[in-house]
Amino acid sequence: MGLGLHPKVVEKTMMPFVALAQLAEELAATSSRLQKRAAIADAIAQVHRESVDEEDAGRFALYLAGTPFAEADPRKLNAGGALLSKALLEVSGATGVELTAAYKRHGDLGAAGFDLLVGKAQAAGGLSLVEVADAFAAMASARTTAVRAGLVEGLLRRASALEAKYLLKLMIGDMRIGVKQSLVEEAIAAAASVPVAEVRHAVMLEADLSLAVRRAFAGTLREARMRLFHPLGFMLASPVASPEEAVERFASVPEDEVEAVQIAAFLEDKYDGMRAQVHCGDPEQPGRVTIYSRNREEVTESYPELEEAFAKVTEVGEGLLGGSGLILDGEILGWDIRESRALPFAVLGQRIGRKRVSNAWREQVPVVFMAFDLLYAEGALLLGRPLEERRNRLEGVVERLVEVARSPLAVDERAKLPQGLMFAEPEGELVERLLLAPSRLVESVEDIERAYAEARARANEGVMLKAADSVYQPGRRGLAWLKMKRELATLDVVVTGAEFGHGKRAGILSDYTFAVRGPEYEKTGELLNVGKAYSGLTDAEIAEMSAWMMEHTLEDRGFFRTVEPLRVLEVAFNNIMRSDRHASGFALRFPRIVRIRDDKPVEEIDTVERVEEVYESQVDKPQSHADTAVEASE
Ligand code: AMP
Repeated sequence: MGLGLHPKVVEKTMMPFVALAQLAEELAATSSRLQKRAAIADAIAQVHRESVDEEDAGRFALYLAGTPFAEADPRKLNAGGALLSKALLEVSGATGVELTAAYKRHGDLGAAGFDLLVGKAQAAGGLSLVEVADAFAAMASARTTAVRAGLVEGLLRRASALEAKYLLKLMIGDMRIGVKQSLVEEAIAAAASVPVAEVRHAVMLEADLSLAVRRAFAGTLREARMRLFHPLGFMLASPVASPEEAVERFASVPEDEVEAVQIAAFLEDKYDGMRAQVHCGDPEQPGRVTIYSRNREEVTESYPELEEAFAKVTEVGEGLLGGSGLILDGEILGWDIRESRALPFAVLGQRIGRKRVSNAWREQVPVVFMAFDLLYAEGALLLGRPLEERRNRLEGVVERLVEVARSPLAVDERAKLPQGLMFAEPEGELVERLLLAPSRLVESVEDIERAYAEARARANEGVMLKAADSVYQPGRRGLAWLKMKRELATLDVVVTGAEFGHGKRAGILSDYTFAVRGPEYEKTGELLNVGKAYSGLTDAEIAEMSAWMMEHTLEDRGFFRTVEPLRVLEVAFNNIMRSDRHASGFALRFPRIVRIRDDKPVEEIDTVERVEEVYESQVDKPQSHADTAVEASE
């Protein structure tokens, strides 16, 4: 595979975008990871050698990974499926029906775009990487949708059908060529002949793939320094059904020996709130605080009281925290201040996603940050240190900060400064916003059993068990963290379609069809339906979902609409049966929605494999299709 450029070109050139599109096309047709890596490495090396613009090799790597901007770069394109489809219709002159048909063939707007443009008298192409980068920068700073749409149309007008295909995919943020960032990192290492671990480390510290390319070629990867204010991946837990299974996993012993072994694990309550990472205390950016949700989105403005409280960390930073910032991992909880305990998730849920938080919300649903891990402190990233040590240091940090990290229940809204709330005058009592999650060492099945019962008695969801000597693995669901939940059988699924309801729900999309990840998900984004449910959400949630789905309809079949697979739900059910009603080959019985999980990205929903596991674990497996009607009539 090559770039489609003449191999003997030695003069430096403007790197054309079509080189990227052609490589992407070849990568999509190759399943061998090794071949893909080699092809990407060759291409990056070639761009580095031949482009006049020294940032092109970085751009090339960044775009191939499907990201218009580096992760540390806060800019966003703000171009969703609706805007892009409209621009595509405008430029191609195709009808909505044609677009729907093309979309249906591929399930991908880029590929649909290619079909619509390829037959037409189309521009010859010839966009350069720099021109694409400039257009992206202009889109990010565009003040109106019209300006942004104009920029997209401008790009598409100048693009060949093949270029348009990959421009659209890139703007959506998903190339669907079976290339993940980790593979691009390996290719960068190969292209510059440097160790891949050094590339990965630099990317983790600086969150900038294109900068890593420049560093790799310049030999400065080791000079990368941790930057705050970009999210690190979250470590996740694997589910276990019983204390015995937990010990079995930790100690790697067969089931009949678990009673006899000793383990060293920390046990914490499993809180039912919103997982979050707090960055604060950077002496170079006094008062700056960012809070990230589990899908790596910044949610700071939804929690002004936490921002106010953590903004004060810089004040103590110099003397007490070794003069550097902090990264804390924990859970945002709605908090009953008088009773000193968490409010139910449903209460916090009403605040999640709100951008402007009035005093009424601050008072009705006060929030705290329950810290359970420390990822960065005193200028050092702590991910590689054992949990035991991180926990010790976390305790030290929280002890020093509890008194500082406070903010008022409500603020004097008239005193608000336009830049933010930080300097608003306190009104009334100050609330401690930073709490330390209680944790204790457990050693045996018996210990865990007791602690689990206690957590349940405190109305928490269950417990988390974390191996004392484990390192923090960002973005991984390993076996070092285990979760034991009350409701064993819940699945995280994504809504793929919806039906209009009846009676008071007539005209409202209220009956959802949902899917899990299929075996081909990594490659093609394959999602397979497993069920249908309508019960469990509040009227307000249903109304919001319905309006959202009207906006994000892919195909309108009258009574039923397929929708963009973006809304994640947690569903509970009584059991699972095999059924050919849905594409997954399984159907959930009596499914009910536990909650909307906008905090969870689609890439992390459950898989068909997991569905099969749960199916197999059932003592009484429902055998036949005879009762499939249950789901429909429920
Ligand atoms: P799940 O969302 O079911 O995969 O469960 C993992 C989630 O449990 C994390 O994303 C956290 O939001 C949550 N969680 C609650 N308590 C803890 C805890 N003590 N340690 C780690 N994660 C926790």
